[in-house]
Amino acid sequence: MSFCELCRKNDIQVHLTISENKTIHICMECNNNFTANYMGIELSSFQPGIYEFSGIRGKKHIFNVQRRVSPMGIGYEANEVTKDGSPGFTVAVMDGVDCDQQLLLEKLKTKVKKTIFKRYLKKSFSPYGGKTISIKDSEVTGRFEYNEDNDTPKLVIDGKEFTWEEFGRMLNSYEGFQFQLKIMDITEDIK
Ligand SMILES: [Zn+2]
Repeated sequence: MSFCELCRKNDIQVHLTISENKTIHICMECNNNFTANYMGIELSSFQPGIYEFSGIRGKKHIFNVQRRVSPMGIGYEANEVTKDGSPGFTVAVMDGVDCDQQLLLEKLKTKVKKTIFKRYLKKSFSPYGGKTISIKDSEVTGRFEYNEDNDTPKLVIDGKEFTWEEFGRMLNSYEGFQFQLKIMDITEDIK
């Protein structure tokens, strides 16, 4: 892994073309500073990287928190770092370039806490040793993730990865019911 050409501290995340034959390879924060300078926005102090949150029964959740500044607005994104590298929780917020950035970061932290405490699925064990995962209260929210092994996306629910087949089995008990599927941007708040 090579480091940002400007700060020499963070990993390269952005390849920025600054003139016809010059591209620089920089980190997200240096790119944010670039954009902010260009747009005349003052950025509040923020330390990108690892943040720790306490979830259900005190379980530790590690998130990599990054800021993203673009002409569209300012956003913060928290991606859970899991032990096996599988997708975990992702939480994001976004607001206009003139927003209160400290408040926006607080909003992200509040949203992370709310997210890691909420469960849509429940596990039950049969007396014969089998494990069944089912939907707790007839409602599920989650996230689609790229699936390199399949032509359907992965589903991430409760910070855990599922295939459509696994999700389909959870729906077996709802035969004859109707359902509603609504797709929203990752920064939107789910009620
Ligand atoms: Zn940098």
